[in-house]
Amino acid sequence: MARLNGTHDPALRSWVESANTPGTDFPIQNLPLGVFHRRGEAAERARGGVAIGDRILDLAAAVTAGLFAGPAEAAARAAAGPALNPLMAMGNAAASALRARLSALLRAGAPERAQVEPLLVPMAEAEMLLPATIGAFTDFLTSTYHTERGGRRTRPESPLPPNFKHLPVAYNSRASSVRVSGEAIRRPNGQRLRPDGTVHFGPCEALDFELELGLFIGPGNPVGEPVHLDFAPDHMFGYCLLNDWSARDIQRWESHPLGPFLSKSLSTSISPWVVTADALEPFRAPAFPRAESDPKPLPYLHGEADQREGLMDIRMEAFLLTPRMRERGEPPARVTATNFTNMYWTFAQMVTHHMSNGCNLRPGDLLGSGTASGPTDESRACMSELTEAGTQPLTLPNGETRRWLEDGDEVIFRARAERDGFVPIGFGECRGRIAPAPAWPRGRNDA
Ligand code: MN
Repeated sequence: MARLNGTHDPALRSWVESANTPGTDFPIQNLPLGVFHRRGEAAERARGGVAIGDRILDLAAAVTAGLFAGPAEAAARAAAGPALNPLMAMGNAAASALRARLSALLRAGAPERAQVEPLLVPMAEAEMLLPATIGAFTDFLTSTYHTERGGRRTRPESPLPPNFKHLPVAYNSRASSVRVSGEAIRRPNGQRLRPDGTVHFGPCEALDFELELGLFIGPGNPVGEPVHLDFAPDHMFGYCLLNDWSARDIQRWESHPLGPFLSKSLSTSISPWVVTADALEPFRAPAFPRAESDPKPLPYLHGEADQREGLMDIRMEAFLLTPRMRERGEPPARVTATNFTNMYWTFAQMVTHHMSNGCNLRPGDLLGSGTASGPTDESRACMSELTEAGTQPLTLPNGETRRWLEDGDEVIFRARAERDGFVPIGFGECRGRIAPAPAWPRGRNDA
């Protein structure tokens, strides 16, 4: 596991002035990786980049310019293409070597500044793409607070399912519909049970967001070969924000006995920048404190280091921007403020559990943390919690109300890791605007 080193030094400043602005998501201590092309360029020109202030360092151009040598060059080449999977496959030592060199190239006083400066692209002129080819996407359910709020309605006698404190619950979700921030989300059509007992098919009437962190898998494991919890972090490459869009009416009807299907596969949005495990080292936090009465994790899910520092102290926020706010120039309304330390299971436990039956994880696979709700009202991290499943409308600052998401509503996630003695780092944004459901396609015999 990489530990603190010179790249985390809070005194470091960049010659890219916007990276030194207080409040920036992308100071030189962050250096997240993504895939981009300039607006107007063909998608085939997609290449790896590093966020620094309001600029992107073009990694393909930096490799061509001969700015890397040794292990850092191998890593930069692996990150320079149209997807970060080759770098993810190399493991976190490669990402660390790349980070060390990038930090040296971008710090104030770097002798290479004149060579590097022409390779910067303003973020405003770039289009961000998915950072990796995502072969598989698994979504977890690991906040007791989120699970209990839902459970109190459906299983009031035992709001937490009996397995919840024994294993990190998950389902296999859909990789093909993971989309990058900014792409519109079409309201799904689907089947559901109405309160009068009739079954309908049509546009979802209970569309929701879920505020989560996403984890990109590094090297992964061969099928049939589990990985010990101690080594799970070697397979945890980096993190993004993840919106697990959820059609609650479809979900309620379809999920028994096999779990969510079309209610979740409609689309998942992620932020485009992958904040590496290295960048988050200063923000580690202890695992969730288990109550005396809670079961101890089974040995395969228990590790001293993981208990000591398996979570991350990351503030996470969700905002809602309605069409009326947009028209009137009002700012997005914050509806959720939570922290990743609310999660009952760590990502290392999720990864270990995922591999424990011999299932193989591969570079670029995506894991969702589960909705990151906390104990307080303001930390409710989806509409279903905020509105008691649509029964108590949420009132926004301008007087508008919402039971669920409406067409034209935009959901915006932001997150920051902060700790005394370190420079805060951010994740950038994860945005998605709801587009109306498509008209049902015509059949062969329709007039
Ligand atoms: Mn979810």
